[in-house]
Amino acid sequence: MSTSKSVSEAATPAPTTGPGNFIRDIIVEDLKTSKYDGRVQTRFPPEPNGYLHIGHAKSICLNFGLAADFGGKTNLRFDDTNPEKEEVEYVESIKEDVRWLGFDWEDRLYYASDYFDQLYEWAVQLIKAGKAYVDDLSAEETREYRGTLTKPGKDSPYRNRSVEENLDLFERMRAGEFPDGTRTLRAKIDMASPNLNMRDPVMYRILHAEHHRTGNKWCIYPMYDFAHGESDSIEHITHSICTLEFEDHRPLYNWYVEQLGIFHPQQLEFDRLNLTYTLLSKRKLLQLVKNGNVRGWDDPRMPTISGMRRRGYTPEAIRNFCNAIGVSKTNGIIELAMLEHYLREDLNKRAPRVMAVLRPLKVVIDNYPEGRVEEMDAVNNPEDPGAGTRKVPFSRELYIEQDDFRENPPKQYYRLSPGREVRLRYGYLITCTRVVKDERTGDVLEVHCTYDPATRGGNTPDGRKVKATIHWVSAAEAVNAEVRLYENLFTKENPDEVEEGQDFTANLNPNSLEVIANAKLEPSLAPAAPGSRYQFERLGYFCVDKDSAPGKLVFNRTVPLKDTWAKIEKRETREVSH
Ligand code: ATP
Ligand code: MG
Repeated sequence: MSTSKSVSEAATPAPTTGPGNFIRDIIVEDLKTSKYDGRVQTRFPPEPNGYLHIGHAKSICLNFGLAADFGGKTNLRFDDTNPEKEEVEYVESIKEDVRWLGFDWEDRLYYASDYFDQLYEWAVQLIKAGKAYVDDLSAEETREYRGTLTKPGKDSPYRNRSVEENLDLFERMRAGEFPDGTRTLRAKIDMASPNLNMRDPVMYRILHAEHHRTGNKWCIYPMYDFAHGESDSIEHITHSICTLEFEDHRPLYNWYVEQLGIFHPQQLEFDRLNLTYTLLSKRKLLQLVKNGNVRGWDDPRMPTISGMRRRGYTPEAIRNFCNAIGVSKTNGIIELAMLEHYLREDLNKRAPRVMAVLRPLKVVIDNYPEGRVEEMDAVNNPEDPGAGTRKVPFSRELYIEQDDFRENPPKQYYRLSPGREVRLRYGYLITCTRVVKDERTGDVLEVHCTYDPATRGGNTPDGRKVKATIHWVSAAEAVNAEVRLYENLFTKENPDEVEEGQDFTANLNPNSLEVIANAKLEPSLAPAAPGSRYQFERLGYFCVDKDSAPGKLVFNRTVPLKDTWAKIEKRETREVSH
C-alpha cells in the first residue's frame, strides 16, 4: 500500500524555450548583428516597497526566460532609491518569491543603493558639463514651471547658475546643509520639449531619511530615471525590459547614458499584466493589508506570489500562464479564469485525490455489521498510474455531503434521496430507506440506508446502473479540519470602477472568505504538512495552510473543479467554426 503523497514543494527548473514575441525577435536580430558581442543580459528590478504579485511574475518569467533561452544571464536588482517606503522584509520576500518561481540569479544580486557613490560622481560630471543645475524652486513651483501637454514649460530662474555655484550647492546638499524639499538637482535639457519627462527632470532630491542599507550616509537620493538606466549601464545589461508606461521615459533613459558616455543598454517596453477581479498595484495591496481587509500580504485571496503560494498555486502553473499570455505592445485585460485554468491543468496532473466532506450529513447503513471496518482500495491519481493506491476505511456510519441528499429531489437530481440507490465511490451501492429529523426544526439529522454486499468496490455484478457516484468518509476514522473557502476578493471585473467619492475597497467581496469549522477528511490526511496539495474528489483542489498543526488541520480551497475558462474557449471555437 502506498499512502497518498503530497505534492513536493521543490520547484522544478523553468523551461528554457519560451514563446515567440517581439522582444525575442529584437534579441535574435541583435545577436545576428553582434550588437552586444553576442551577449544577452537582462535584469529584474523590483522596488522593495511591497510583496511581488502576479504582474511581477510576468516580468520575472520574461526576463529570466529570455536570457536563459539565449544562454544569457539575469540579475536581480533591488531598485532601492526611495528610503521612505522600503523595508528589509520586502527584500527577503522578493528573493524567496523569485526563487520559488524557479529562477536563479546566482551571484548576481545587486542594489541600486550600491551605486550611490558612482551616481553622485556622474551627477557631478553632468554639472561640470553644464548639463545639470541646482534648483531652488519648491515642489509646487517646479510643477507650475513644468507646463502641461499643451503648454510649454518655463525656465527656472536658477537654471543658469555657474558650474562653480552648482558644484558648491550640490556638495552642500549632500553634506546636509539644507532641509528636505528646499533644493533639487535637475538635468538641463529642454523646458519646451513635447515630452514632459525631458523638461529638466529632477535627478536628486533632499531627503533626510534613513535607508535600509546605507543608513544615514546620504540625505540626497537619486530619482528613478537617473538611477535606473545608470544601474543598467553599470551592470552591462543589454536589454532593459520594462512595462509600457516607461515608453515616454526612454528618451530620458537614452539622454543620460549618452551624455555620460557610458555603456548603453537598450530599453524595451511590453504590456503590463491586468487581470479581471484583481488589483495589481503594490500601493493598493498595501492599503488592503494596512486596513485589515485581508489577513496580510500572503492572505490566500491576495494576487501576491506569497498569497498564491499559500493558496496552493504551483510555480509551474504560474509560469505556464505567463508563457501563454505572452507579451505585446498594447495593454489589455486577461481573464482571471485563464489563470485558474492553468492552475487546474497543472494540479490535475500532480495532486493526489482524496475524499473529504465539507458539510457532513450522517449516513447509517442499517444492514452493515456494527463494529466492522473494511479497507477499500482507492486510486491516488488517475492521471498518474505511478501514484498507486491507498486504503480507505469503510464502516456502518459514514458522512456524505449535505448537498448529496435531498428529501424531496427536484427533477434531474440523481443523488441520494428516499428510495434511491447511489454508488459510494470505492465503496458499495446504498439505497436510502428513511431519514431521522429534528422534530423542532425539520432538519434532516441522519439518513438511513441499506447496502448491497455484492457491490463491493462500486461494481454491480448484475449490470444495473446507478446515475450518481458520491464521495464519503467513515465517521469513526474521519479527521476533523478547518477548511477555508475563497471567492474573488472583488465583486467587479474592474475593482477600480467606483462611484464618485468611493475607492476600490467599496468593491470588496464580503463573501471572499468562508470558514468551515468541521469538515471530515479521510484519515490518510492526518499527517498532511503545510504546503501539501490535494484534490478533494468532486470538490476542487485544496492545500494545507501554514496555520495547520498536527491534530488541528487547516486547508485552503485553491480552486474549485469547474473550469469556466475551458468553457469560454470551447464557446469561442464553436463560434469560430459556425
Ligand atoms: P506596482 O505598481 O505594483 O507597485 P511597480 O512597477 O511599481 O508595480 P516595481 O517593483 O517597480 O513595481 O516592478 C518591478 C518590475 O516588475 C518592473 O520592471 C515592472 O515593470 C514590472 N511589473 C510591475 N507590475 C507589472 C505588471 N502588472 N505586469 C508586468 N510587469 C510588471
Ligand atoms: Mg515601480
